[in-house]
Amino acid sequence: MERLPTFSKGGVHPDDKKALSNNQAIQRLPVPSELVLPLSQHLGAPASPLKQKGDMVVAGEKIGKASSFISADVHCPVNGTITDLRKVVLANSVVTDAFVITPDASNPLGEWPEQPYDALSPEELLAIVKDMGVVGTGGATFPTHVKLSVPKGRTVDALVVNGVECEPYLTADHRLMLEETERVLRGIMIVAKITGPKRIIIGVENNKKDAIAMLRQEIARLGFPITVMALRVKYPQGDEKQLLKATIKREIPSGKLPLDVGAVVLNVGTSFAIYEAVAMRKPLIDRVVTISGEAMKEKKNLRVLLGSKVADLIAFAGGLDHEPDKFISGGPMMGFAFHDDQIPVIKGTSGILALDKEPSAKAPTTPCISCGRCVAACPMGLQPTKLYRLIEHRDYERAMAMNLMDCKECGCCSYSCPAHLPLVHGMKLGKRLGRK
Ligand code: SF4
Ligand code: SF4
Repeated sequence: MERLPTFSKGGVHPDDKKALSNNQAIQRLPVPSELVLPLSQHLGAPASPLKQKGDMVVAGEKIGKASSFISADVHCPVNGTITDLRKVVLANSVVTDAFVITPDASNPLGEWPEQPYDALSPEELLAIVKDMGVVGTGGATFPTHVKLSVPKGRTVDALVVNGVECEPYLTADHRLMLEETERVLRGIMIVAKITGPKRIIIGVENNKKDAIAMLRQEIARLGFPITVMALRVKYPQGDEKQLLKATIKREIPSGKLPLDVGAVVLNVGTSFAIYEAVAMRKPLIDRVVTISGEAMKEKKNLRVLLGSKVADLIAFAGGLDHEPDKFISGGPMMGFAFHDDQIPVIKGTSGILALDKEPSAKAPTTPCISCGRCVAACPMGLQPTKLYRLIEHRDYERAMAMNLMDCKECGCCSYSCPAHLPLVHGMKLGKRLGRK
């Protein structure tokens, strides 16, 4: 049997739980009665508000302006009225200002007819991506126009598109690849025109065979120079570093970026957003979110207006089947636990999960038995057991010297630890305190 490529160092194989929702076609969440739209939905500085309480707004209107180089514009998802500008706490604990918007009940949505874009130059395309507020939708939310701005003198060897979706439960990208194949591919070709790569590869894990077949079929029909690479299933292959290792066998050195090894990496959801931005002049005002987890009555993939509250999504999925152990925004490995169902969906919200307690989570924490499993599982080649000990003793200096900042917070170490030590929490804490 053919041995599929993957990254070499570390990684784990959690139960992917994709079958709970991967056959659920994308549905649209009806327009909620109120949206809460944060000005910080991206990595970098929050956008500055361009509107105030009482202002009328229209769908697609820019209501938050990027405030620095690493920042992104924010656009209004609906026609309506701004009823407040107040502080909110997001799932990732970020505190930010947010517009509260009441949609116009009789005519809430905008229209986005397709328009020609073939004649646009790479610079014009990049300007549209920036103007439409596109950021990475895979969770990292890095402003896309910054990522696609290739400095003069640099060349791009490979554009690598991330169709891996390696986090358990999440199936939003899977459904996009199946249901919006042509638009995802056209979005990739727009990025290719902007960045000029020599080759284009989409990496997809082999637990999405139907998406791989659909992408290949549409690529052949459209005649695009894109290769689809089926990858062995292994977490965290969706990370840029692991994805580049798996697809083009390049290693990003510590502290460097994909461009430093001649690559641009972007997610399939972001490619779709780029298509809508360029071909429809539609800002990033909605996204696909997976609703899943054992405690969720119905599992779904929903196209959701940004600013919709989690409670609206759960209600549309029939509510809860039973009380979950925890709610997670994103995937269970790298997502954020939250308690307040009034938090809004933002540009990086890939999933809302209501999870039962894992059998292993019931086991008590015991002392380290020096088994080395965390070291073997770490895809960054770190020594989680030693780092954890140093962080426990507040010796951040030595932890930093042992490359703590290279930690991706992927959770492979915690997942592998038979002593149930909260290793990844230790890494997060150490990174935060060590940086000061
Ligand atoms: S969380 Fe950090 S230390 Fe743990 S396995 Fe991932 S990269 Fe390694
Ligand atoms: S996996 Fe857990 S028990 Fe084993 S060495 Fe690492 S910290 Fe210790």
